[in-house]
Amino acid sequence: MRLSRYFLPVLKENPAEAQIVSHRLMLRAGMIKQSAAGIYSWLPLGLKVLKNIETIVHEEQAKAGHLAMLMPTIQSADLWRESGRYDDYGEEMLRIKDRHGRDMLFTPTAEELITDIFRGHVTSYKDMPLTVYQIQWKFRDERRPRFGVMRGREFYMKDGYNFDLTKEDAMHAYNRHLVSYLRTYERMGLQAIPMRADSGPIGGDDTHEFLVLAETGESEVFYDSAVTDLTFGDRDINYDDKAQCQSIMEEFTTKYARTDETHDEALFAEVPQERRKVARGIEVGQIFYFGTKYSEAMGATVQDADGKQVPVHMGSHGIGVSRLVGAIIEASHDDKGIIWPEGVTPFHCGIVNLKQGDAEADAACEDLYRQLTKAGLEPLYDDRNERAGGKFATMDLIGLPWRLTVGPRGLKNGVVELTCRKTGDSEELTPEAAIAKVIAQYM
Ligand code: ATP
Ligand code: MG
Repeated sequence: MRLSRYFLPVLKENPAEAQIVSHRLMLRAGMIKQSAAGIYSWLPLGLKVLKNIETIVHEEQAKAGHLAMLMPTIQSADLWRESGRYDDYGEEMLRIKDRHGRDMLFTPTAEELITDIFRGHVTSYKDMPLTVYQIQWKFRDERRPRFGVMRGREFYMKDGYNFDLTKEDAMHAYNRHLVSYLRTYERMGLQAIPMRADSGPIGGDDTHEFLVLAETGESEVFYDSAVTDLTFGDRDINYDDKAQCQSIMEEFTTKYARTDETHDEALFAEVPQERRKVARGIEVGQIFYFGTKYSEAMGATVQDADGKQVPVHMGSHGIGVSRLVGAIIEASHDDKGIIWPEGVTPFHCGIVNLKQGDAEADAACEDLYRQLTKAGLEPLYDDRNERAGGKFATMDLIGLPWRLTVGPRGLKNGVVELTCRKTGDSEELTPEAAIAKVIAQYM
């Protein structure tokens, strides 16, 4: 992409309405624009990051054997009356009437609809286990939408649902989600710690929230600092292997880590004093096992091997896809702007031409651009006729992990400059070596 043809409405001033750094930087970097309280347009740069996050979620769900589908945002109230949640959900639910006066709503989550689909098509234990998910816009009429996309009213969420014959199978589904989520967040450059949580209006017994530690987080968390030493890394996972998934779940959830809702002072006191941490965190996902709550209320039963009708065991599992954009920025920025982890960056590399219009500099930039593109990467070439300082400030603000700087002086010596956004380190390399190094970062 050439910046001269892009739509990147960066702001020079700090927007007054933004209280936290991710919100500020998303507005300043031209990623989003508010259209109403808690409702945003995603501008081209923001959308790219959102889509990258979405892609990682899809890829990791596919590895776990979960099937992608898509359900409507507008749903009929009838199903929600069946489960009892039409009344329970309260003011957070956006209620709508169609032209015939029928009660509709904008989906805040989709347990009812997926249970309805399931009961209409699955009748035998032979059709299970089944886990499906979608990545779809949700609406919750939050009392206090704030912090930009972190607590929106309209937000993008992955919601997955498992249907199993037994509690044991459903717990395997739970563990599969836990494992796949650990991997998902790590690919985004995040450490998200599973913490024992409270199930809230979704209901249920077993639930963990995934929290990214950040001062601006809305949840108070209590944990054994040893949990922050755990990394998932590059493990070979067989998602059909119940014992393997169970042991990873235990590895990541045995040490004390809880949100304030389930915090237990007595248990916490057993953690060695120097490892006891109280901090704040951003909830980026949650997994639930809720057994037969919806299947019983909505008659989602199957025939088991003995020919008996039994209600299915279910769970639901969410990832805050749009919130993650903000959470990643909270975890990775400096006073100049965003620092994108390579896994989600909107462009792989920036190219800054220090002297636009200089025949040699222009040609060298074009060549870098062509070669990076040919290698399957997406560079962002700042080809505007602007001062170098302004170009650097924009690149730092939008946070691309790597920047190539090209100017007549370097070219005389046969070099360009390669700068790492995270460390600020620069080195002079031949264009070929610089390209090879950038490509190697994404292999
Ligand atoms: P919270 O406690 O933050 O209100 P929740 O527990 O009600 O969230 P879930 O039903 O667990 O949310 O939804 C799954 C994920 O969707 C959450 O972990 C969070 O990352 C994201 N999410 C929930 N509400 C919002 C919101 N208003 N704006 C952006 N993301 C949200
Ligand atoms: Mg939650």
